[in-house]
Amino acid sequence: MMIVMRADATQEDVQSVLACVEELGLTPHISQGVERTVIGVVGDSRNVHLDQVLRQPGVDRIVPITRPYKLASREFNALDSVFQVGGIAVGAGNVIIIAGPCAVEDRFQLLETAHAVRQAGAHLLRGGAFKPRTSPYAFQGMGEEGLELLAEARQATGMPIVTEVMEPEKVQLVSQYADVLQIGARNMQNYALLHAAGASQRPVLLKRGMSATVEELLMAAEYILSHDNRRVILCERGIRTFETATRNTTDINAIPVLKAQTHLPVFLDPSHSTGYWEYVSAIALAGIAAGADGLMVEVHVHPQRALSDGMQSLKPERFAHLVSQIAALCSALGRRMAPPEQIPTPPSERLEWST
Ligand code: PEP
Ligand code: MN
Repeated sequence: MMIVMRADATQEDVQSVLACVEELGLTPHISQGVERTVIGVVGDSRNVHLDQVLRQPGVDRIVPITRPYKLASREFNALDSVFQVGGIAVGAGNVIIIAGPCAVEDRFQLLETAHAVRQAGAHLLRGGAFKPRTSPYAFQGMGEEGLELLAEARQATGMPIVTEVMEPEKVQLVSQYADVLQIGARNMQNYALLHAAGASQRPVLLKRGMSATVEELLMAAEYILSHDNRRVILCERGIRTFETATRNTTDINAIPVLKAQTHLPVFLDPSHSTGYWEYVSAIALAGIAAGADGLMVEVHVHPQRALSDGMQSLKPERFAHLVSQIAALCSALGRRMAPPEQIPTPPSERLEWST
């Protein structure tokens, strides 16, 4: 449920409502609107008498949240959430592009790709250091060494870093390097990991499980939000269907559905959702047209040599072309792409690294 405070409620009124909610054994989450404060209340309220709350000074009314996810719902927060990631505003239709290789493979590959995507207009750099692979014999990622290379790439390009974490025990380590923790499709319902990522207070990019419903994705986001970590980005990355012509099936419907049901930013990963570079641009554009707040695209300087997901990785030139198409689409739709000037100026210049 939500406790809606009156427009003239004072700070003391809000504090006493928070204390009252906690006394009832429930957890309050404040949402400070421009005009009013709303307090989301989660926990088992079946045997709780709310008259006590209603009688508190400054309380206007109590409104139930009908969805099973509470803090993620539009009922709790009618306006789109917007938050900063390394100085870049994410959410509310400010189109953001995350790009980079599937995996960090070596210094040259990462730095070359990072500079190329930055030049093409990407805002954030992706790259996996811990890779969830179907086969235990496949390349598993460079681990902490990969994280160090990502930090170097951030230093060289100014781009904030998005990288995957697969275990709760590694959240602290990955948080030392990452601006955004990625939780992959295979771990969307790893509840210990969701709790740990929530507690880290780092922004989280949460990918939809390959067989998860939209509601299950939102319930997974709720775990992170329940730690009062509000910087959660949802990412559609294709679901399993009977179709084998593509790696997954892009659930384009999920984008407007999510936008209707949650205030959280909604991204699309057209690389994993299609599995083939030939289809990535078409589906990326479809995602933006459907209302996505951003994209996550795999780019590799030499896709044919990639240690993972080469088939779905764009070469930098093609990616640059896609970015120009996205910019054109955004202006046709009356939307805006986050200005690349928002990315901090790189502290070091390109020629400062050697290979
Ligand atoms: C990835 O982003 O490289 C990845 C492994 O994605 P997903 O978890 O969506 O399969
Ligand atoms: Mn990948």
